[in-house]
Amino acid sequence: MAGPTWQMLTTMDRHTNSVDQDLTFFEEGALIGVLTTQPIDRPLDYKAPEGGCFLGAFVEVPLGPRKVMGVVWGPGEGGYDLKKVRSVLRVLDAAPISGGIREFLTRAAAYTLTPMPAMLRLATRSPGLGNPPSMQKVYRLGNVTPDRMTDARRRVLETLQDIGGLSYTLNELAEASGVTSSVVKGLVKQGAVLEENTPRDLPFPRLSPGHSEYDLTAEQDAAAKVLRKGIASKTYGTSLLRGVTGSGKTEVYLEAVAECLAQGRQALVLLPEIALTSEFLTRVEKRFGAQPAEWHSGVTMTTRRRVWKMVGEGGAQLVVGARSALFLPFRDLGLIVVDEEHDTSYKQEDGVLYNARDMAVLRASLAGAQVILASATPSLESWVNAQSGKYRRLDLTRRFGAAQMPEMAAIDMRAEALPAGRWISEELAREVRTRLNAGEQSLLFLNRRGYAPVTLCRACGHQIGCDECDARMVEHRFLKRLVCHQCGATKPVPNVCPSCGVDGRLAPVGPGVERLGEETAELFPGARVAILSSDLFGSSRALKEAVEDIANGGANIVIGTQIVAKGHNFPNLTLVGVIDADLGLQGSDLRAAERTFQLMRQVAGRSGRAEKAGVALLQTYQPEHPVIQAILGGDEEAFWQAEAAERRAVGMPPFGRLAGVVLSSPDVQAVFDLGTEMARSDEPLRRVGAQVFGPAPAPIARIRGRHRVRLLVKADKTAPLQPALAAWARQFKLPANLRLSIDIDPQTFF
Ligand code: ADP
Ligand code: ZN
Repeated sequence: MAGPTWQMLTTMDRHTNSVDQDLTFFEEGALIGVLTTQPIDRPLDYKAPEGGCFLGAFVEVPLGPRKVMGVVWGPGEGGYDLKKVRSVLRVLDAAPISGGIREFLTRAAAYTLTPMPAMLRLATRSPGLGNPPSMQKVYRLGNVTPDRMTDARRRVLETLQDIGGLSYTLNELAEASGVTSSVVKGLVKQGAVLEENTPRDLPFPRLSPGHSEYDLTAEQDAAAKVLRKGIASKTYGTSLLRGVTGSGKTEVYLEAVAECLAQGRQALVLLPEIALTSEFLTRVEKRFGAQPAEWHSGVTMTTRRRVWKMVGEGGAQLVVGARSALFLPFRDLGLIVVDEEHDTSYKQEDGVLYNARDMAVLRASLAGAQVILASATPSLESWVNAQSGKYRRLDLTRRFGAAQMPEMAAIDMRAEALPAGRWISEELAREVRTRLNAGEQSLLFLNRRGYAPVTLCRACGHQIGCDECDARMVEHRFLKRLVCHQCGATKPVPNVCPSCGVDGRLAPVGPGVERLGEETAELFPGARVAILSSDLFGSSRALKEAVEDIANGGANIVIGTQIVAKGHNFPNLTLVGVIDADLGLQGSDLRAAERTFQLMRQVAGRSGRAEKAGVALLQTYQPEHPVIQAILGGDEEAFWQAEAAERRAVGMPPFGRLAGVVLSSPDVQAVFDLGTEMARSDEPLRRVGAQVFGPAPAPIARIRGRHRVRLLVKADKTAPLQPALAAWARQFKLPANLRLSIDIDPQTFF
């Protein structure tokens, strides 16, 4: 039978108020404020519809000639002729959102300087939300025997017997029985098969939050106890769970998830990479007896809708997902885990610019929930917060079982004198050979997709660039094309130089993983080589299969970009060779040292994850560089302390605050003119002690044909930066086609 719809609940529950403690009810005709997803940055007044509606309900309202979706945000403002106020058209079939979620969206919008409608759109990205409660026909076994039994009919009945009292959709049943749908329909007519209507969006299977099947080590147990206690307190708190790869962080935070589920509250686990979800799902299924709900770009529309609704109604206990899962309307969220919390993919870099790690903390603090930030190499921000006592810090210092952290060493490339077009040093090659002979795996790490980063004309020195961006095009031999990594534009690799017209002198310069693959094949004939690079796999499933194949011994040598650094487990891998450890240290990015440190430690952590000891070798032209030294020395506390001291000395994040402002337009003059005017009219910023730097051409001065100019605003940690930025930006009238975006706490400068 169909469950009650929210329209029905509006009348059912208004007396008991069992839907949610903080729900206010508006009687029919009451004046209410509705926030819509249309670009109007405040709630509009409407009258509550027939039957009334809850505060927080999703509704459809008339706006001019259109019907749009909105959320009942509070009482209306009134103060004018009430006869002119239009009525809400209908209440949608979705659970009303709580005051906590409305508060979260409001605060997140204020923090990121995002207009409320855009924030609401982010929170309502569920297809078919406005559709009437959707039903589907399902088929189960009846108790009438058909008058005439055929083979096909028997197969259908057997299929249904096999699944006990459960049901199938028509297509599923026909397919599973190998019959046409008319056979099923015939059985329905006879009463041998029953046809029923059920809601399409069903709750997810219940998880059983028992105890870990493992005996936790003393260290793990201590951490798990603290986390469980945090959950039991039902209050807000953030823990930084630090532990080398393989130390059991996941095992430990699943204990917190179990405690949360046992309390009847919901939990959310954020992962930085879709490719990691399936491994995690399997683990959850083993631990809790069923799979959790999944939320990311690889999930079908129907499932997204189901997850969105069930999260609101409490029919999904655990969600595993990408950063946008933070905006799902959880009914009673008790825990958010941010796994690999340092990962840069938690920062959304277009549209609404937010950092999921920070928003997780905000959301939890409003929901009385706990946050667990897990990482082997935390961000400096989180490390500083743990040092200052703002976060709880929990350390797992040892790998589980026999696994040891790999031994690390540098290979001084200045002494290697490699011929042109070669990147694997003699020393590294020797180590790979040793692994080949021992039947162990090696990983060669190079954070560059494609074949070669530069295509150069040897006649005139021209480098082939993108027509739309200020970026060189990267040759992808696999695709047989040049690709712009900024905008994705591609073109065929030419024979003739587009600049000087000379034929046959274009040459690839520098290595990408594909080119490294060629060198590897030449150096180690007979070895099976696998390349793991995000662009070589059409889907996360294909990538997952490749990863599984490698883990099962399908390759002797793995060549990978940063995708391999993220949590995949290759038990037989005992050597990691970093082709260019200096790569991330070039450029002037504030976080270059931190990023390189994290990435190198993460990659090295792929080595020696099981019984066999691992080695990590870093090819570098500057072995005495302090960051390289810190990576090799492995004294992470010392590294963070030094890095923190440097940032503190110059008032940079996390000790000061930054906002990046990017102006972009096809008209180069317009962006510089406005940039100059903005730098000059900085009164609202100066009032809070903030400084403006720029305008300057952005590091990538043109993307997709738009010229880009950037300004940087720097302020004290305690300065009320956002209101000042808003007041500052409001002063200017933007010319047509000029876009202004403000990035609070920018992570990258491009
Ligand atoms: P991390 O998340 O820190 O990389 P995991 O939780 O994935 O570490 O643990 C690494 C491996 O060790 C996993 O296969 C996990 O099942 C196993 N493991 C961790 N702790 C224990 C334990 N106490 N008993 C048995 N196996 C464990
Ligand atoms: Zn481009």
